[in-house]
Amino acid sequence: MTLTPEQALAQAEDAGIHRLAIPTPFAVGRVNCYLLEDEPLTLVDTGPNSGKALDELQAQLAARGHSIDDLELVILTHQHIDHLGLVEIIVQHSGAEVAAIDVAADRLANFSEDAELEDSFAVDLMLRNGIPQEVAFALQSVSRSFRGWGAKAEVTRRLRDGEEISFADRRLQVLHRPGHSPSDTVFWDAERRILIAADHLIAHISSNPLITRPLDGSSERPQALVQYIESMRKTRELPAEIVLSGHGDPITDHVALIDERLSKHERRKEKIYGLIEEQPRTGYEIAQAIWGNVAVTQAFLTLSEVIGHADLLVNEGRVREAEDEEVIRYEATR
Ligand SMILES: [Zn+2]
Repeated sequence: MTLTPEQALAQAEDAGIHRLAIPTPFAVGRVNCYLLEDEPLTLVDTGPNSGKALDELQAQLAARGHSIDDLELVILTHQHIDHLGLVEIIVQHSGAEVAAIDVAADRLANFSEDAELEDSFAVDLMLRNGIPQEVAFALQSVSRSFRGWGAKAEVTRRLRDGEEISFADRRLQVLHRPGHSPSDTVFWDAERRILIAADHLIAHISSNPLITRPLDGSSERPQALVQYIESMRKTRELPAEIVLSGHGDPITDHVALIDERLSKHERRKEKIYGLIEEQPRTGYEIAQAIWGNVAVTQAFLTLSEVIGHADLLVNEGRVREAEDEEVIRYEATR
């Protein structure tokens, strides 16, 4: 019997895990943070850096008899600003430890510098893939205008992939699951079969495999979708009963959801192959053939999606990248 989302939330609450849905200014809507009523008192993700988010976080903590000052540990699931913007303020009030996957710690500490580098990486990638300059630059300024909702995070506890975090009443295994972002980390309670998955798996949205600068600072473009598919296959093997997401409702049949996502990617890959087989095309031309002209804010998401599938086809030997001085075009190998 699979649980309903309401039953799953109730079961998580019985286990001392409380969903705090915090408002964001982004299209995705509220972000789910999770309060673990245990020792240490722990908050998984913080919500974005805004007065409104802080007010709601305080109110929702107060409803459970806690204040921000009481928090002893903040765990960050990944590098996106809707999940970590309040971390600095929380640490100032509480002196809480901040835990995150070790490979992301330097990145999180250098938030502003990194945001600038990330934006120029994205602009280069867009131009190389045929996105018009005005769209690329418009997107860069949209991204800059969002930066205030983020913050730097001084990670005081660097987590290693596979290690366990011990609490008075539970143990959580740390599992690195890159794809949606290179720092995506999920937390597995094997005894209760509950997985805190943040944006690695979301019931109502297919997480974007966003192309992001590698965490080690190298300039090579990562194959985000290839990584993401590998990560989903690993998560599929966990005997989870409840998966708690970074947005929306809990997932109670993650195997079915992952299978659906994997077959959706398979179908999209074949569609993109069909377009490339017809004639060589840039990533932007492929995105336009599939989605038409999308809003500027969607341009990078759709390009990430196309490049991800093209990577799969390149790895299968069916497509190659033909580069001239200006753009990369994908062409069929036969
Ligand atoms: Zn995210």
